[in-house]
Amino acid sequence: MAPEITPDDCPCGSRQPYSTCCEPCHQGKPASSPEALMRSRYSAFVLNLTDYLKATWHTSTRPQDLDLTEAPKWVSLQVLSSDEGVHEGRVHFRALYRAGGWGYLEENSRFVRDDERWYYVSGDTREGTLKPGRNESCPCGSGRKYKACCL
Ligand SMILES: [Zn+2]
Ligand SMILES: [Zn+2]
Repeated sequence: MAPEITPDDCPCGSRQPYSTCCEPCHQGKPASSPEALMRSRYSAFVLNLTDYLKATWHTSTRPQDLDLTEAPKWVSLQVLSSDEGVHEGRVHFRALYRAGGWGYLEENSRFVRDDERWYYVSGDTREGTLKPGRNESCPCGSGRKYKACCL
């Protein structure tokens, strides 16, 4: 079984408490950077906060309906790089999910700033699968061996 997320541990994997990491964004505070917004959106996917996902999606690309019932179970997030300009930003990340086996989504996301707030615009995504070995570190990011963790 995957370790449960404790209230202290933000789902975005920052190893900071949710209350000081993504929760303020979810409660309406503007994200301080494209990466902070991306992290808070990942957490919102984990926590099923569809209203937040829509509110942080730029109006030019925002979907009419967002249904997360078919969404995979996200287990971890890795931010590979991020880059912030005055009006635009980019974040390259990889998010792991579990749906029977392990899969990942890697995305180069684009963000824009409008009225002091960052919005997600779009991204180039790539998907793949992972086959962790029993003695490799667990893809969930726990730091334990796969066979002693989520196997
Ligand atoms: Zn967070
Ligand atoms: Zn694990």
